[in-house]
Amino acid sequence: MRDIRDTKHSYPPDGGYDVLLGEEDINKRIKELAEEIEKDYRDKVPTFICILKGAFIFCADIIRKIHLPLNIEFVKISTYKGKFKNKTPEVIDNVDVRNKDIIILDEIVDSGETAKYLSDLFLSREAKSVKICALLIKKRKRKIDISPDYIGFQIPDIFVAGYGLDYNEKYRELPFIIKIK
Ligand code: IMP
Ligand code: MG
Repeated sequence: MRDIRDTKHSYPPDGGYDVLLGEEDINKRIKELAEEIEKDYRDKVPTFICILKGAFIFCADIIRKIHLPLNIEFVKISTYKGKFKNKTPEVIDNVDVRNKDIIILDEIVDSGETAKYLSDLFLSREAKSVKICALLIKKRKRKIDISPDYIGFQIPDIFVAGYGLDYNEKYRELPFIIKIK
């Protein structure tokens, strides 16, 4: 048996991390988002689609705060470089969205390409409704006109990691969000 006191991680006290959003801020905001969703879907059974890998922690946290019957699906997106360095998203795992009230869970909206692509795809596959819930959105100009229905935080146009988000596959496990310099 392991004493719970032994499981405490000690992140370096001064971090070495430049924290943008702390654990408490994230939890508080997710609770608010969950309450909003709960109100909007009171008489529905939403299907949450978690975009892997980045949204896995956000998904696990938010669904446990939504007190409604719901379904969860996972899709993995691959981005490959096209001829002109365009990143084209491609869905790897397909889910049946027909007649369902879909809520896409994304950890961050940057160009908006991923969220827009999935939203259009699910609508073309006859989802009953599609909404986007993003924990973070970067404040920047975008070619794609996208406005997620639920947004946790608007952040500056910088690269961030932690809380599911990676920097070269590192830092996903951090319970807070850091700035990458
Ligand atoms: P998009 O440009 O909105 O399509 O975002 C594509 C994906 O890039 C996001 O879902 C994230 O997985 C990743 N991404 C974008 N910005 C960041 C960041 O600052 N940190 C980590 N991942 C990011
Ligand atoms: Mg992502």
